Amino acid sequence: MCGIVAYIGAKQARPLLIEGLKRLEYRGYDSAGIAVLNGAVSVVRTVGRVSVLEDRLAESGDLKGSVGIAHTRWATHGEPAERNAHPHVDDRHGIALIHNGIIENYAALRTWLEEQGHTFTSETDTEVLTMLISELYDGDLEKAVQGALREVTGAYALAAICEKEPDTLVVARKGSPLMVGVGADEYIVASDASAIVAHTSRAVTLDDYQVCKLTRDSFRTSTLDNVAVTPRIQELELELEQIELGDYPHYMIKEIFEQPNSLRNTMRGRIDLREGRVVLGGVGQYARELVKARRFILLGQGTALHAAMIGEYLLEDLAKVPAEVEYSSEFRYRNPIIEEGTVIIAVSQSGETADTLSALHEAKERGALALGVVNVVGSSIARDTDAGVYLRVGPEIGVASTKAFTGQLSVLTLLSLFIARRRFMSVEQSSEILRTMERIPEMVERVLAESDQIRAVTERYCDRENWLFLGRGYNYPTALEGALKLKEISYIHAEGMPAAEMKHGPIALINHGMPVVFIANKGAQYEKVMSNIEEVRSRGGRVIAVATEGDTDIKRYAEDVFYIPEIPEALSPLLAVVPLQLMAYHAAVIRGHDVDKPRNLAKSVTVE
Ligand code: GLU
Repeated sequence: MCGIVAYIGAKQARPLLIEGLKRLEYRGYDSAGIAVLNGAVSVVRTVGRVSVLEDRLAESGDLKGSVGIAHTRWATHGEPAERNAHPHVDDRHGIALIHNGIIENYAALRTWLEEQGHTFTSETDTEVLTMLISELYDGDLEKAVQGALREVTGAYALAAICEKEPDTLVVARKGSPLMVGVGADEYIVASDASAIVAHTSRAVTLDDYQVCKLTRDSFRTSTLDNVAVTPRIQELELELEQIELGDYPHYMIKEIFEQPNSLRNTMRGRIDLREGRVVLGGVGQYARELVKARRFILLGQGTALHAAMIGEYLLEDLAKVPAEVEYSSEFRYRNPIIEEGTVIIAVSQSGETADTLSALHEAKERGALALGVVNVVGSSIARDTDAGVYLRVGPEIGVASTKAFTGQLSVLTLLSLFIARRRFMSVEQSSEILRTMERIPEMVERVLAESDQIRAVTERYCDRENWLFLGRGYNYPTALEGALKLKEISYIHAEGMPAAEMKHGPIALINHGMPVVFIANKGAQYEKVMSNIEEVRSRGGRVIAVATEGDTDIKRYAEDVFYIPEIPEALSPLLAVVPLQLMAYHAAVIRGHDVDKPRNLAKSVTVE
């Protein structure tokens, strides 16, 4: 959510900043802006895409200078409008600020700052922070930023420059991500590594409540109380090719097709077939606690919640431990009960999901052991959990999550087997599931080969504005995920639910020609799903089924069928979701939407 890029060095800042903003576009935003220091602060801001900002820059002449900050905004306080776009500039010293997050006590601060004579031109909380820094400024930007941040509550990643200190850039973070790329006599600061790797592979990830002052050839990290902190410089693992589109038209389809490989990466080195064991280095030291756990609580939002729901079934079914799943946002604020032996599992692609992060803090405070199932290495959730398992699916740029979902399912399956095998699952049983898991990448390849057929079918239905997705057991969450994918990028209204629930109300919606997608693979509830299909058909619904290869009977019930290879039910969501991802993608393309930048959405939701 929102992107920050800042530069200080010997090169011209503007092209570097714009290139960085483009790399961060996937995070989601509604307006963009840039400020460069060259004697004075020059600012250009626009509503809309970074390309619009580029056009405006071309009109307004080049912004020259080698210190600058740039921002993509995802509005929280004040509509997307030029006056609310960042950078914000103060009214006294020529201080420009960009900010990601929310300053929660902004209203009281604004009233006080108005009393001190500051005038505001926007509705944002960010401008309040700008004026607070201005109010405290006495010739030292770093000190003013530290002082201001001691007064605010909320979340921030920020970067500030000041006309009076032409060789200084000050950045800080709490709760929102920020990294400092360390080049040769230059620094590129950004919300994530994708805006840094083209320039340097060395970076420092700031911790919460840390401030970093950068000059052209040095940097210093400190606490808000100005105690120096030794920074840890790390090598970025990200390769430039991983974040480029290559021959694909969109990141989403690239990532859908990457799944055979991303799943191989998730499983690599983690499966010991001979012993029927799962090897998870990240949680190894907590094996005893996990085996003795009395209850698991899985937390997530959006796609991660759907993966967590399947995780609940897996933990109960395979490891035989009570498990429950909850929206992080609800868990956090309802006074949850954490007893002895409760383990929480925070599921998040970005590792920055604000709701999940604060739910995790709450659970830890109440004594739970906290595990993370996260993709982004070194992210806030990865750092704040006691232990965890990385997805290893590579960077996910498409806003609609695909390969992270199947990565989450694989990790949750491995984790369940890790515990199950240590409790009472036999070597044979565990080895059999693991052997099947190893074949999944190749099975996903077979499903992907149906992409053209899936497109042709989708084309026939995608002018319909209301869809249902129905499944049972392990594939009830898959149905939710299918509906979410369609909503996110095609803007088609879709509902997912347990197939049996339909009769308790939603069946009233079914009218002639309504597309109803059934996940109807062979499994314990197959016959029941067939009855549900009949109920839909007899009311005029058009049934699209995801079925098991070889099931020819299903053609008697369903208008269209997408086949997946035969697989045990516990693993079936890993395959069943793939046709649903492809349907959503094709529907969005056919309807002419910007698949990788869906309206109103952000990739990592860093506000609660
Ligand atoms: N709260 C700030 C605003 O509304 C920053 C939003 C963001 O993270 O982009 O301007």
